[in-house]
Formats: sequence, C-alpha cells, structure tokens
Amino acid sequence: MRRGRRSGLYTFVGVHSTRRGQAVGGCRMWAYADSRAALRDVLRLSRAMTYKAAAADLPLGGGKGVIMVPGGRLPPSRRREVLLDFADTVAALDGRYITAEDVGTSSRDMSLIAQRTRYVAGLARSRGGSGDPSPFTALGVEHAIRASCQRAFGTSELRGRSVCVIGLGHVGSRLVRRLARAGAALLVSDVDPAKRRLADQLGARWVAPETALGAEVDVLSPCALGGMLDDETVPGLRCRVVAGAANNQLADDAVASLLSAQGVLWAPDFVVNAGGLINIAVELGGYDPAAARKRVAGIATTLQEIFDTSERLNITPLAAAMELARRRLGG
Ligand code: NAD
Repeated sequence: MRRGRRSGLYTFVGVHSTRRGQAVGGCRMWAYADSRAALRDVLRLSRAMTYKAAAADLPLGGGKGVIMVPGGRLPPSRRREVLLDFADTVAALDGRYITAEDVGTSSRDMSLIAQRTRYVAGLARSRGGSGDPSPFTALGVEHAIRASCQRAFGTSELRGRSVCVIGLGHVGSRLVRRLARAGAALLVSDVDPAKRRLADQLGARWVAPETALGAEVDVLSPCALGGMLDDETVPGLRCRVVAGAANNQLADDAVASLLSAQGVLWAPDFVVNAGGLINIAVELGGYDPAAARKRVAGIATTLQEIFDTSERLNITPLAAAMELARRRLGG
C-alpha cells in the first residue's frame, strides 16, 4: 500500500504468487469505504488471479492492483495524478507485478502508466500491445457455453438454443453478437436502458433486470456484477446451464452445491472468463492474435476436464476446478 506523492490517494498492489518471478493482474479503480476494504479486496483478487491463471494453464502468478477513489469518480487531472502514482508503485516492484486494465481502468490508462514503467500489458494495438481484452473474454465465454451445452444437452450447437445474457457491457455486448451469429434465441438484460438498442438490432428479447435471473432458458450467462447467485436467487433459476463472464458469481462457495442439487450445471466463472488473461499471456511472449484465439479455445477442453472430474468424484464443478488449479500449481 502506498500513498501517492502527487494525488495523496492510496494505491495498492497485491502479489499472491509469482511464476517465473512474475505476477499478472489488472488494476481496479473503485470507491472503497476505507483502506481496509481496499486491502482486503486486493488480497482476495490477487489470490483469485493465481487460480484463474493456473486453471488456464498459464505460466503466470496472481497479482492485482487497486486504486482507492473517494466517491468513485475523479476529475481528469486528479485521475492522471493517481494513475501516475500507481505507475510508480508498479515500477518500484521492478517486474514482479505486471499490470493491465480492469474495472474502472482502460487501455488508454495503461498507455499513461507505461510512461513510467514497462511492466504494463494490454496496451493499445498501435503501441504493440494486445489492446482491449474483452473480445477475447467474450470468445472464451462462447467456448464455455458450447462446452457446457455439450455436457448438458449432448451437443455444442447453439442454433435455436435459448440464452439469456445479463449485462451488455464490454464483454456482454460482444458475446450477444457472437451468439446471434451462431443462431441462438437471445434474451438480454441491462440496468442501462440505452442498451436496449443493441437488443433491437440483434432481434433479441429485452427482459427487465429484476426478472432476468429467473428467465426460462437453456443457458443463463451473467456478464454484469458478481454475487448474483445466492441462497435466495438460486431456487428461482429456470435454466439448465449457467456460464458467464462475471467474476465471483457465487455469493459463497456453498452456493455451488445448491446449484448442483437443483440440476443446474454451473461453469466456474474463473475458468469461463479467462480469455482476457490468456490474451495477455500471449502478449507477454510476443503478441499474435491468432495464437491467442487458439489458446482461448482451450477453455472448452479445460471445462470438459472439470465436468468429467465433477461427475467422476461426485463433487461440484467449483471443487473440480479448484482441484485442477491446485494440481496445475503443483500442490
Ligand atoms: P462492463 O462494466 O463493461 O459491463 C457491465 C454491464 O453490466 C454494464 O452494461 C452494466 O450496465 C450492466 N449491469 C450492471 N449491473 C447489472 C444488473 N444488476 N443487471 C443487469 N445489468 C447490469 O464490464 P465488462 O468488462 O463487460 O465485465 C463484465 C463482467 O465480466 C465483470 O464481472 C468483470 O469483472 C468480468 N470480466 C471481464 C473481463 C474483460 O475482459 N472485460 C475479463 C474477466 C472478467
């Protein structure tokens, strides 16, 4: 934790693990109640990155950056100051932590950070980076949906398959375009009514956010915020599969058992949404988008392995995914 020289605001870096001496994870800019909450989050998120990288079989450790912003918004000059302060924190770690964009930061912010440190991934393509990770995350979610449908319905074909996507942001908007092209029957939802335009363009049915979770569909794809699945919402689900980009979908680990007991196949979020991280891992070795797309397709194979283990040992997909990640970490 460091107090910024320019901005006076706190920036945090959590390094949960390193592989080849490095940890990778995005920089989140968020309004936290206090520095303890920010510290808790950076530790939790950096640990989650270790498991995400391991499950995706990437030679990367888990790290995370957090910038604590009072009230959530900053005027542009203050934003610049705090990003440069964060860059100094990254530079001081001398390559042990590589940052990238995350909730609240953009690839433009990464260009600013790169003025002070070279340990930045996800720079714009024009600057030799891999750019916005969202298209690769969306691609990975499509692979995950197909692998989950293969398990639940015996086919990965999406034509005619009903899918409800909650959250049409960076990832969700790209995902729904991909699913529309694949011929899925789409229901979509967002708290931002302006997103309705995209639904109209794609011929998707718009559902209110309050009712989206209970939509009667084959696949539910949460692509908004985490924590949507809990003791109260799971009994109301009317889908067979849940596979989406949102991080931390389960309010707690016990919800995984609740989903299984209800006959819902849940594809673990940190496996489903690894496409952006896989893209960054490819960037670190010399960027090649075709190689990134090929590696992202591996998410389907990873999920098959997880579902196999889950069935064989009669454990939840979450437990099977954690078991796979630990095995890949060698512990
Ligand atoms: P985003 O902020 O661009 O989009 C989120 C969308 O969800 C917004 O349109 C917002 O209006 C909507 N939303 C918020 N609350 C909602 C609710 N209750 N009901 C319906 N809609 C709601 O975020 P993103 O980059 O698309 O990421 C989406 C999720 O995927 C996040 O949980 C993120 O952590 C995770 N994720 C993203 C990436 C990536 O590459 N962007 C990678 C891994 C994981």
